[in-house]
Amino acid sequence: MTSGAQTAPFRLAVDIGGTKADVALVSSDGVVRRRARVDVRGNLSLLDDLIATSREMTLNAHVLGAGVACAGPVFDEGRRVSPLNIPQWRDVPLRGLLEESLQMPVGVDGDVRALALAEQRFGGAIHRRNFASLVVSTGIGGALVLDGRLVHGRTGNAGHLGHLIAVPEGHECSCGSRGCLEAEASGWALERNLGGSPHNADADTRRRVGELVGRTVGSTLCVLDIDVCFVSGSVALGFGDSFFQSANRAAADVAKLSYCESVTFVPSALGEDAPLLGAACVGWDS
Ligand SMILES: [Zn+2]
Repeated sequence: MTSGAQTAPFRLAVDIGGTKADVALVSSDGVVRRRARVDVRGNLSLLDDLIATSREMTLNAHVLGAGVACAGPVFDEGRRVSPLNIPQWRDVPLRGLLEESLQMPVGVDGDVRALALAEQRFGGAIHRRNFASLVVSTGIGGALVLDGRLVHGRTGNAGHLGHLIAVPEGHECSCGSRGCLEAEASGWALERNLGGSPHNADADTRRRVGELVGRTVGSTLCVLDIDVCFVSGSVALGFGDSFFQSANRAAADVAKLSYCESVTFVPSALGEDAPLLGAACVGWDS
């Protein structure tokens, strides 16, 4: 952990994924000042470790509150979380436990939803009131901002674009359905198909992933009257131009109504600290 006198008001930012959790202090202009990492996979004392790291991080710092971006699903504004890829956490009352332990206000939201907040505050969506965020990585996740506000939905899980049906009767998905975008175009789906890392995918596979995303998400954006989708994640960004060109071509093929002719997929403008900025934004917005 880096340290030093920390006087500006910060948010404690916690980004919790299936493999590791990052904890940091983030200033209101989006600069990460301190950071530390906690192992997640198989860690049965994960919550205690996160609390200990957070306490150490906030020592002698002016911290106004905390924001947590957590792998989903997240229910009731983080009062209950059951991340699919953190099997040791089921129905964990994360927000209440952190508030009690850290003695500060805590906001909790899904990780991709947090990224959308960061895109709006620090990234390519600063002047946009309508956009989508999509992560094409090991899994596929999404979030929607309509009329300037992150869409929550009935249970707070709106925007799960990874579970749009891309191939009817296709491969089995982790959600229990078949042929979801995630089951056909995510990192884990590609690994299953290729028998190896998606980073070694051939040109046809790269184009097909772009096509599946462009067709499913493109038609959904047309329904919502959204014209831009900010994309991040190692698979999409790793595939680069072949992904973005095929996604935009496929979207143009399905989004034909005059108001949605310009639906476009572009790389996220956030850098590698995006997940921590997202977590901090959850703190600011809660
Ligand atoms: Zn699914």
